[in-house]
Amino acid sequence: MTGAQKDVVRLLRDQMKERGSTQDHLDAITVLIAQCFAAEVCSIYVLRDGLDATDSGAEQTRLELVATTGLNPGAVHQTTLRMGEGIVGLVAGQATALAVSDAPNHPNFAFRPETGEDPYQSMLGVPLLRDGGVLGVVVVQNRAHRAYGEEEIESLETVAMVLSELLASSDHTPSDDPVAPDRLAGLCLVAGLAVAPAVMHNRNLVIARRACDDPDAEVGRLFKALTVMRESIDDMLARTEITALGEQREVLESYRMFATDRGWIGRIVECIRAEKLSAEYAVQTSQDKIRKRMGAVADPYLRERLADFEDLSNRLLGHLQGASDQDRALPAEFVVVARTMGPAELLDYKGKKLRAVVLEEGSPTAHVTLVARTLDIPVLGQCRGCLTHVREGDLLVVDATHDQLLIRPAASVAQSCRESMKGRRQRQVEISAGRALPACTRDGCAVSLNCNAGLLVDLPNVLNSGAEGIGLYRTEVPFMVRQSLPGVGAQADLYRRIYNGVEGRRVVFRTLDVGGDKVLPYWAMAAEENPAIGWRALRIGLDRPALLRQQLRALIRASAGRELSVMFPLVTDLREYHAARDLLDIELHREQSRGAPPPATLRVGAVLEVPSLVWSLSELCPHIDFLSVGTNDLLQFFFAADRGNRHLSGRYDSLALPAVRMLRQIAQVCRDHGVEVTVCGDMAAQPLDAFALLCAGYRSLSVPPPQIAPLRRMVRALDVGAATAFFDDLLSRGVADLRADLKRHADHLGLDLGNA
Ligand code: PEP
Ligand code: MG
Repeated sequence: MTGAQKDVVRLLRDQMKERGSTQDHLDAITVLIAQCFAAEVCSIYVLRDGLDATDSGAEQTRLELVATTGLNPGAVHQTTLRMGEGIVGLVAGQATALAVSDAPNHPNFAFRPETGEDPYQSMLGVPLLRDGGVLGVVVVQNRAHRAYGEEEIESLETVAMVLSELLASSDHTPSDDPVAPDRLAGLCLVAGLAVAPAVMHNRNLVIARRACDDPDAEVGRLFKALTVMRESIDDMLARTEITALGEQREVLESYRMFATDRGWIGRIVECIRAEKLSAEYAVQTSQDKIRKRMGAVADPYLRERLADFEDLSNRLLGHLQGASDQDRALPAEFVVVARTMGPAELLDYKGKKLRAVVLEEGSPTAHVTLVARTLDIPVLGQCRGCLTHVREGDLLVVDATHDQLLIRPAASVAQSCRESMKGRRQRQVEISAGRALPACTRDGCAVSLNCNAGLLVDLPNVLNSGAEGIGLYRTEVPFMVRQSLPGVGAQADLYRRIYNGVEGRRVVFRTLDVGGDKVLPYWAMAAEENPAIGWRALRIGLDRPALLRQQLRALIRASAGRELSVMFPLVTDLREYHAARDLLDIELHREQSRGAPPPATLRVGAVLEVPSLVWSLSELCPHIDFLSVGTNDLLQFFFAADRGNRHLSGRYDSLALPAVRMLRQIAQVCRDHGVEVTVCGDMAAQPLDAFALLCAGYRSLSVPPPQIAPLRRMVRALDVGAATAFFDDLLSRGVADLRADLKRHADHLGLDLGNA
């Protein structure tokens, strides 16, 4: 490291003391960095949420050039890159530094003519990190093919740290007005809209004392706080509203178990003793390590377990400091903003007027999401930057349904959101008033609308929606929230409760679909390079036949005297289907020989999720009673696009011609063979996609309960015969944008597509 590079941090800090706008500071900083690193160019890119240039208008996170020395100043605030695009996008996407001596020949190089960067050959980019998230990227470039050394990378990383602090602190955000309205993109975890002031979760956890003189006394304090914390968790679990949570309660039970985890507590004690830290600081140090590990863990289930420890650490810190964060005075109604949250913390707030939750992290299967969904609290997750952009008391509009957070919105914006909430509530009442009306098109075609479900708590919603039944019961969900594998008796009990809960409606049980992103806590599975196409679903069932047989036995017992509809997930070829069917027959005979009452009728099907099966469907059809098309998996394999990778979300269109042609072909083959076919993937829940599916020949859809009413409305307004003729014409002409053409046509027909 050169002396100049060592000095750069001090110079940066001096610069920030100067008067001037944020832009002035950023401009001056790029000059300083370029000088200290003997570079011809220094640029700063900051993450922004903006509109995609495509018709879909989807929100896309972009890296905006906010200051530069050496590139064309006219490109500032003009040039943007998507996450993962160009070397800058790669640095941001991977959150790691990258030095490239021949940038134009790097496979990720993205040339932006407006920047005038063509003469520059080498490039060093370092991410601007803050609170585990990426704020932006700082880049230096040189004309020569320069090989940046380790020391240079390290010193630019140090500079990046300071720069991140400056950008994140309110006075130095790229917006010159710290109270200006702001907007962040996130990911809808629980749909809904809320307008209320922000409450920052764990805001008060500032640790004043780091070292200790008497480790024994600190360990004593730690154990005392642990006892109080466990008692408070026990109290919470005893509350009646939580008892009513049914299976979600098990989520909380597992959380209680973590509170006694020896490994976690042992590591904190070790920190106190070995490093002579205060109990608080030891808890925080172990929390930091967990957070670091979280960054590296891709498995969503493991990440959630680690998030539970983070939640516990915060609670423990609260108890060590003598007061829980939730004891503070809270506004009449509010939105909680947090990095991540455990289910118990959510319930702490629930008694008060919690309107929504915004998380920097969070995932669709996180425990907090499962519990919030049950309690009908909107959750916006993966809202990068919310912790730094939102201040306590800021008015927020949490529009989880549209993946966005509005911070300090103008009064008129907040007001129209409140009106929209009122309107939606009213519309919901009107729509559900029509739930007894048949889902029949204007030209007399009946459409079977069914629900997707996975927990007992979903059942009242299924009944309220007016659906015909459950088109997809994901049996793995109850397995995932338990602490041990349920035996045949426990499974049969659960399935009986489902039968009873739906009051005679049809339930289609999908056998265990674990593996991939669905991990059972009590089942150690080897890490896989590509879990989505790995050892999962039926593949596991066939390799561990005892597991599948037990489940089939439980289903047969529960269905005694009723219809049993069962389907196997991720069938890849006929051989697999036959093998699974054989196991079912073995169990049917076994139960029969025991004298157990058999199901009144049996329907056996396959979930079509693997493209290969599309081309053996004619051979499969004679052997199945029904087919369910799992478009979530089918399309991820079809487009080779990981459904869980947010960088890819929105990149491939479910209504792209090849996908729609495949889906139409599936419906056609099933019709030719007289086999019932349903779409149970998320596609069916999107009204425009559902419209296309009806035109493609599907007459049965299975969707989350809230989607039933809007779909029924759309179906009842549709002349499917005429729409199909229009649709077939679009497909035969090979139109460039089927989605846009269909949308225009639906608008022309006056179909209410809700949020399409
Ligand atoms: C699907 O893949 O479309 C599907 C319904 O299954 P899951 O989303 O549970 O993988
Ligand atoms: Mg699937």
